[in-house]
Amino acid sequence: MTKNIFETIRSELESIRVSGLYKEERVLLSQQQVRIQIERGEVLNFCANDYLGLANHPEILESAKEALDLYGYGMASVRFICGTQDVHKQLEQAVSEFLGMEDTVLYSSCFDANGGLFETLLTEKDAVISDRLNHASIIDGIRLCKAARFRYNHADMNHLETQLKRAKKYRFRVIATDGVFSMDGDVAPLDEICEMADRYDAIVMVDDSHATGFFGATGRGSIEYCNVMGRVQIVASTFGKALGGASGGFTAAANEVTSLLRQRSRPYLFSNSLSPVIAATTLKAVDLITRSPELVKKLRSNTAYFREKITSAGFDIRLGDHPIIPIMLGEERLAGQMAAKMLDEGIYVVGFSYPVVPRGEARIRVQISAAHETQDLDRAVTAFQKVGGELGIL
Ligand SMILES: *Cc1c(COP(=O)(O)O)cnc(C)c1O
Repeated sequence: MTKNIFETIRSELESIRVSGLYKEERVLLSQQQVRIQIERGEVLNFCANDYLGLANHPEILESAKEALDLYGYGMASVRFICGTQDVHKQLEQAVSEFLGMEDTVLYSSCFDANGGLFETLLTEKDAVISDRLNHASIIDGIRLCKAARFRYNHADMNHLETQLKRAKKYRFRVIATDGVFSMDGDVAPLDEICEMADRYDAIVMVDDSHATGFFGATGRGSIEYCNVMGRVQIVASTFGKALGGASGGFTAAANEVTSLLRQRSRPYLFSNSLSPVIAATTLKAVDLITRSPELVKKLRSNTAYFREKITSAGFDIRLGDHPIIPIMLGEERLAGQMAAKMLDEGIYVVGFSYPVVPRGEARIRVQISAAHETQDLDRAVTAFQKVGGELGIL
C-alpha cells in the first residue's frame, strides 16, 4: 500500500513537471525588499505583495522588537481559552475604525478567515453567488458550507443578475467577490454589485487582500476606490500583503456577524491566536498608513509613472490604476522566456500562462511598491525594452 501510494504520487509529480507547471521556490538570501539577494546576486524585486514597503520598514521592525519584549513571543492558545491580549483587541478595533466597520475578528490568515466565514453564517436555506475568478480561499470557504452555490462570469453584472434571480427562493443571498483580482489587477465593479444586492435583497462580501492599506484615496481598499464603504456588509482581508506582510487576516462586519464568528467559526475556535508580535506590528502598520498618507501617495505616483512609461515603450498592459500591472504577451512560451531574460537583466518578475490565466493571455505580472524609487522603475522599463526587442515583441 505505501509502495503504491508513493508510486502514484511520483507519477503525479512527473505529470506536473511534464506539463511545465512544477513550481520551484526561489530562496532569498536577504530580507524582503526592493533590492533582494538571490543566489545569482542582487536583483530588483517586482513581484512581492509588499505594496507599501512595510515588510522591513524601520518603524515596523522597531515596533516588532518592542512588542516582543512587551508581550512575549507566542500565545500558545486559541483566542477563547487564554489567547487574547489587549493588543489583539486593539488591532481589531483599529481595523474596524480604518474600514468603517462595527467589529473585526482576527484569524491566522485570510485563507482561514474565508474558510470559517460561509459555513458559520449560511445553511442549506441560503445561497452564495460568487465571481468565477474568486480567490481559492473564497472557493474553498464556500465549498465548506451547505448553502446553494451560484457562480457568475467574471465581473459580468448581467450574469450576476441572472444568478440572483435564480437564487430568489433562498432565505439569504450573499454575493462574494475579490475586491481586486490578482491576475489582472482589475477592480470588482462594487458600486454595481451593491446596487444589485439592494435590488435583489442580498448582502455583499468583499475580500480586499490586494487592496487593504494601499488602494483607494486613503488606502481603505477597493471599497473606498469604488465609493461603497458602508454598503459592503462583510470585508475580509490579509495582513500578509501591504500591512507588514508577516501573516494574519480578518473578517470585519456588523457585531451580529462577528459575534457569531467568535462562537462558531472553526479556524477561529480551533487554531492558534495570532502572535502578539504580529498583532502589535500590524497595529503599527495601520497607524503608519493612517498617520502618513505619503506611502499611499507614493505608491499611486509610482504606479502611474510605471504604467505611463511601459505603455510609451510600446507594451500592451491591462489598463487601470492598480499596482498590479500585467504586461500582455499572449503566447504561452514567451512569458517564461521573458521572465528568465529579465532576471538576467537584474529584474525579478514572474510570467503567468495557461492554466493560471486563460489560453493565449500569457503575461508578465509586475507589482509596484512605494519602496521603489524612480530609478528602479526606469531600470525595469529599460530592461523590458531591451528584452522585448530581443524577443521581437516590440
Ligand atoms: C493573498 C490572498 C488571500 C490569502 O491571504 P493569506 O492571509 O495569505 O491567507 C486571500 N484572498 C485573496 C483575494 C488574496 O489575494
